[in-house]
Amino acid sequence: MLFTHDTELNLTFLQALLDTAAEASESGTDELATTADLAALLSRWSFTGRIDRDEPELAGVRETRDRVRAIWGADEAEVVAWVNETLAEAKAVPRVVDHDGIGWHIHAIGDDAPLAKRILVEAAMAFVDVVRAGRLDRLRDCEADDCAGVFVDLSKNGSKRFCSTRCGNRMAVRAYRARR
Ligand SMILES: [Zn+2]
Ligand SMILES: [Zn+2]
Repeated sequence: MLFTHDTELNLTFLQALLDTAAEASESGTDELATTADLAALLSRWSFTGRIDRDEPELAGVRETRDRVRAIWGADEAEVVAWVNETLAEAKAVPRVVDHDGIGWHIHAIGDDAPLAKRILVEAAMAFVDVVRAGRLDRLRDCEADDCAGVFVDLSKNGSKRFCSTRCGNRMAVRAYRARR
């Protein structure tokens, strides 16, 4: 395992969040357009704490999506600056918690803080782990030329190139046609 279990969960959630954007999603439309979309996304992860299920929350999470997207794949100095800014702005106070059988991990912001802010702070905490492990190269952009998706490569040898098998298959077909 490259990172701790909770960090890997966090990073795969961020991948799912970022890949709801129209230029990255499977449907080619924004898959985080409604509160129902947000509920569907959250249902696949064990989010605890405050969830409002309203429009302001959706707007906030969409803004968080943009802010995380802007730093995904950036270099170390930029990521470190982003992490420090984000944690300071949120007045993060780390504490050790356990829930949903995840095991001991850190929550750096209160459970009653808005969801968008909690996702942002959790992203910052996950990036701390990635920076400390010297593995920022694992936060990647999809190599398909018609896809703006991102992914975290958690494979042992770090050989993943695409955000999804859909992109991998599409590019394989294209390469095959090009060879013929
Ligand atoms: Zn947690
Ligand atoms: Zn892709």
